[in-house]
Amino acid sequence: MVAIDGILESCGGSALDAHFNRCELYVTVEPCIMCAGALSLLGFSQVYYGCGNDRFGGCGSILPVNSEGCGPCSRQPGPGTHVGQGFPARGGLFPEQAVELLREFYAAGNPTAPRPHRPVKTDG
Ligand SMILES: [Zn+2]
Repeated sequence: MVAIDGILESCGGSALDAHFNRCELYVTVEPCIMCAGALSLLGFSQVYYGCGNDRFGGCGSILPVNSEGCGPCSRQPGPGTHVGQGFPARGGLFPEQAVELLREFYAAGNPTAPRPHRPVKTDG
């Protein structure tokens, strides 16, 4: 598996040269507003997701960044990025299974997560 930043680095930082516009992205949960903005600038051709994100969703749950762009980034994109044209997104694919995957992930914890800067509240 290659991360997006690795692909960008191999293309000199240019999303245009990386040809994300030929890529479809499949994710468990609706991309957040910030991620939807990044996906728009990268120029993904299509995004599919399982469940909506009713707190931070950037594909219509909170803001339609995928269809309306992300403000200043849409008007003045950086060099090597797409003109925040947005991307088609389709959610609601196996939503119950997506929620269950998230539940299992959070129940197990993330051993690679950085240590929190603030104390974490626990029920005990
Ligand atoms: Zn995000």
